[in-house]
Amino acid sequence: MTALSGSRTGARVERLPLSRFTTIGVGGEAEVWTVSDHAQLAEAMAAPYRILGGGSNLVVADAGLSERVIRLSGEFAVTDLSPGPESTQGQLITGWVGGGVPLPGLLRRLRQAGLSGLEGTVGVPAQVGGAVWMNAGTRYGEMFGGLHTLEIATPESVRQLSPSELPWGYRDSAIPRNHIVTRVRLKLSYSTPEAVGAKMDFADLARKGQPKMRTPGCAFKNPSDGSGGKVSAGQLIDAAGLKGSQMGQAMISPDHANFIVNLGGATAADVHALLELIREKVGIRLELEYELWP
Ligand SMILES: Cc1cc2nc3c(=O)[nH]c(=O)nc-3n(C[C@H](O)[C@H](O)[C@H](O)COP(=O)(O)OP(=O)(O)OC[C@H]3O[C@@H](n4cnc5c(N)ncnc54)[C@H](O)[C@@H]3O)c2cc1C
Repeated sequence: MTALSGSRTGARVERLPLSRFTTIGVGGEAEVWTVSDHAQLAEAMAAPYRILGGGSNLVVADAGLSERVIRLSGEFAVTDLSPGPESTQGQLITGWVGGGVPLPGLLRRLRQAGLSGLEGTVGVPAQVGGAVWMNAGTRYGEMFGGLHTLEIATPESVRQLSPSELPWGYRDSAIPRNHIVTRVRLKLSYSTPEAVGAKMDFADLARKGQPKMRTPGCAFKNPSDGSGGKVSAGQLIDAAGLKGSQMGQAMISPDHANFIVNLGGATAADVHALLELIREKVGIRLELEYELWP
């Protein structure tokens, strides 16, 4: 790790291995800008950049990145669940929740407070901003279901908008790449900790077969079956006999074939080699679920 000369606005600028920030634990170095307010963010966005969330959908190259990598902290990592003026007796419109807030921690707070609306996103190891950017969720609910307002920063402007101004769909939103979700206000209903907890526990049951090791989540999207339905990518990989296949320290999970896990010390090259092996052996075109940086 190398500390670089400080930024004009006080952002923390360091050269760091991105393996520290990705859930698979791979990735070379980049200039990491940790920003705490809008002035620091504006300075960070003045040169080519990428925005990093929880790193739970990324495989970063071993050679690292030439662009700056921005991480949200400070005022972008604060959770204000107090009722805004638009709240009604049954509905809570919260204060601002930062894009850099870890989603699992936010959900724990909603559970304790008996606030309903985001239960379907339980178990997604993202930050709020990353989860909004790609409308993360499960069959039990998704991020956009609980949004009231979004704040989005670009090098040119900071705008507040309603989700109805943005088309969004399955694991997708119309927020362009590198438009940064800095904060959101949530639209939740008042319930009880027991009822919210029961919904979260139910949604979480679907994760029983998922591996507990370091991973960037599902590797491939489920492809079309040609007649309007989907085929399970995991079952295709399993049927090709690939469960447990290993390249270096990366392995196709023996528990769930659509997950590549890090056995400890895996590199991005190991992960890429496994992705190639799957594509070659499965024989049909599989679309990658996670992002490769660069
Ligand atoms: C064990 C495991 C289980 C998972 N289960 C699910 C699941 O059930 N459902 C699901 O949908 N996903 C799931 N995922 C995938 C992942 O959690 C989601 O894709 C999540 O939305 C990624 O968010 P992140 O904050 O980690 O973003 P990152 O991985 O850091 O980045 C992903 C993309 O989001 C962009 N981004 C990050 N932060 C922001 C921001 N503030 N503003 C704008 N863009 C931003 C990045 O630039 C990048 O393009 C799982 C992953 C793992 C490891």
